[in-house]
Amino acid sequence: MATGECTTAVHAGRHDFRDLGVHAPPLDRSTTYPLTSLATGTASLGAMAAGGAPQGSPVYARLHSPTVARWEAAIAELERADEAVAFASGMAGITAVLVAAGAVGRHVVAVRPLYGCTDHLLQSGLLRCEVDWVEPDAVAGALRPDTALVVVETPANPTLRLVDLRALVAAAGDVPVLVDNTFATPVLQRPLELGVTWSAHSATKALSGHGDVMAGVVATSAERAGELRQIRILTGGLLDAQAAYLLHRSLPTLPLRVRAAQANATELAARLDRHPAVAAVHHPSLPACDPLGLVGRQMDGPGGNLAFDLHGGYEAAAQVMKAVELITPAVSLGSTDTLVQHPAGLTHQIVGEEGRAAGGITPGMLRLSAGIEDVEDLWRDLAAALELT
Ligand SMILES: *Cc1c(COP(=O)(O)O)cnc(C)c1O
Repeated sequence: MATGECTTAVHAGRHDFRDLGVHAPPLDRSTTYPLTSLATGTASLGAMAAGGAPQGSPVYARLHSPTVARWEAAIAELERADEAVAFASGMAGITAVLVAAGAVGRHVVAVRPLYGCTDHLLQSGLLRCEVDWVEPDAVAGALRPDTALVVVETPANPTLRLVDLRALVAAAGDVPVLVDNTFATPVLQRPLELGVTWSAHSATKALSGHGDVMAGVVATSAERAGELRQIRILTGGLLDAQAAYLLHRSLPTLPLRVRAAQANATELAARLDRHPAVAAVHHPSLPACDPLGLVGRQMDGPGGNLAFDLHGGYEAAAQVMKAVELITPAVSLGSTDTLVQHPAGLTHQIVGEEGRAAGGITPGMLRLSAGIEDVEDLWRDLAAALELT
């Protein structure tokens, strides 16, 4: 029976705790496991090498970690996916998807903006991908017989651009689709229900929520999850058990944190939109940012991240980052404290000027990740910093 998402966030991955006689997630730091017999070890290792679950013993921690597997099961439940596969970082997960999709040395269709490192991974030639960057409505026309996958982010980092996933999946036809779901979190958006093949997260962000864990996770079908596990076993981009423990510990408050941050971001977006120093505000709560009406249809809410352009350009943006006192001037997002950063100079510097222009990333743009503080305190800090621009 499906439960509400707050109940799922609290209880997922914990179904056997009573039988185990524990209340907190058991943290197993073993790197190797005693085998009850050689035959057990051989059978289990063979099953895992083929992408499956352990049969009786995890054998070796690069093959399987019970602590990581608990958190993966919880994320799969929240994403309403068959399975989820955890990685050492968001980028390790995205790289594993590119390898699994056969994108190395092949054709990829992608929509800008993407997170700066994802953009660069595709564009740099390091994976020998040939990328066509297109608008969402040009995806169907850009497909070739050798197109390995379609890559998109919605809401996109850093401009909060929204893409209609049902329409994108239809346009992609037989070509699998990777969506970076980091900004929405499974609380607000579950791409697999819309036909997407892989929903990837930087779990370093809201899924961790406290700015102290690096992690990634990809939700997908059982068959595709097996491929990702095989790649993870062979390339070693593992999530550490301690990190998985912290992620599982943070999960019960995910819906509360996401909704509190979302309420703050919505209020700040409305106030910034009326501020004379601000040229434009990007947050899905503003009608201009959601022309297709995706909030309420594709997403359950506009989320906790926003971006804004300053009339004063780069100088004004640098001034705001220097002047904020309560708000933390730092990259990353989805933490309990509010963070502000400059995409052109930091997260999207690596994309280059042309790619930034194509993605709508301006020199006067700041990205703000709302935390869960009192909104009046945040506004006082932000308004004081804007006075100086
Ligand atoms: C941070 C981020 C990533 C990269 O994740 P890491 O955990 O830093 O490797 C990927 N996509 C988005 C949207 C991000 O914000």
